Amino acid sequence: MTAIKTIGILGAGQLGRMIAVAAAQMGIRAHIFAPDAKDSPAAEVVHSFTQATYDDADALVAFGKSIDAVTSEFENVPATTLDILSAFCPVSPGHDALHLAQNRLREKTLAARLGIQTPSFWAVRSADELASALSELDGKGLLKTTEQGYDGKGQIHVKTGDDADSFWRDINTDEAILESFIDFKAEVSFLVWRDTKGQTGVFPATINTHKNGILATSIGPADSLNPSTLKDGVEAAIALAEAVNLHGVLAMEAFVGHAGQIIFNELAPRPHNSFHWTIEGCVTSQFTQLVRIIVGLGPGDTSARGSWQMDNLLGEDLHRLPALYADGGKAVHLYGKTEARNGRKMGHVTWELG
Ligand code: AMP
Repeated sequence: MTAIKTIGILGAGQLGRMIAVAAAQMGIRAHIFAPDAKDSPAAEVVHSFTQATYDDADALVAFGKSIDAVTSEFENVPATTLDILSAFCPVSPGHDALHLAQNRLREKTLAARLGIQTPSFWAVRSADELASALSELDGKGLLKTTEQGYDGKGQIHVKTGDDADSFWRDINTDEAILESFIDFKAEVSFLVWRDTKGQTGVFPATINTHKNGILATSIGPADSLNPSTLKDGVEAAIALAEAVNLHGVLAMEAFVGHAGQIIFNELAPRPHNSFHWTIEGCVTSQFTQLVRIIVGLGPGDTSARGSWQMDNLLGEDLHRLPALYADGGKAVHLYGKTEARNGRKMGHVTWELG
């Protein structure tokens, strides 16, 4: 008899669900650990579910004993949670990768140290610091919380000469980052994998369009971009993965400037929304690759089978479903969320471009 392996997943959202589905297709079970309710997207499709907080040491020990490897589907799990689990099994993405990705200042500081271009940025911890940063900012900028912001949440558009006091009140945080606003030609993302032997590789890059700070559309591979732009992005993403000792997959989001230069925006040490097209579009999807790496099966072939587009389906897009189902060329994915709200990611649709 072959022993069935079980992976642990911290977090119960749609990424956890798609990791679990990829594992199931490989005969591997998934055990979700999250504070969320039992009907959350990932919990409802898996073999086991522990509902507990990420600092519940007893629950983590029991969880650690039940799994062969663990990964985190989002970056805001405390790095100490991974430290507890590392006594039981290999952990992905690893302490350093998680710790770094939890804070925008840390991310941009590392990128700059590695020689990767970033927007100009200033650490802001008071109204006075914001006033001084705004006086150095030449033109438009974005004030962002350093932690917990996503999908454009926790971001305020500012410009030189604006009143620091009122914006500091509005951002309502202890620590923020002011960034220069980049007038970009395109937004692009890169996805690196790295295994325990330190071998790395990439998926084909993706071109992204955002609406209201939320990803709307991804097109991959990003063949319309200059090969030297793509090469620079791949090198930057691999350098970041190595610097944080990544175990698993890591996405780097970047802007492409008008001279074709790569300008780092942020990273996520996990599967990424802009690579959902790899489920249909690549020989090995981002989710399958992550499972292969964490259970020690070795990396798969990440090359693309043609060109693909993915559209996110937000709450307000669900009226498109009948037409999408009527079109046999479209692969519709829904995440099983019962409450549809404007701006909430409910699913996505992928299709091959002619
Ligand atoms: P983020 O949460 O940092 O990924 O920001 C969400 C989206 O806001 C990005 O994908 C961009 O479209 C836009 N954005 C963020 N930072 C900047 C910037 N410094 N300059 C221009 N646009 C930005």
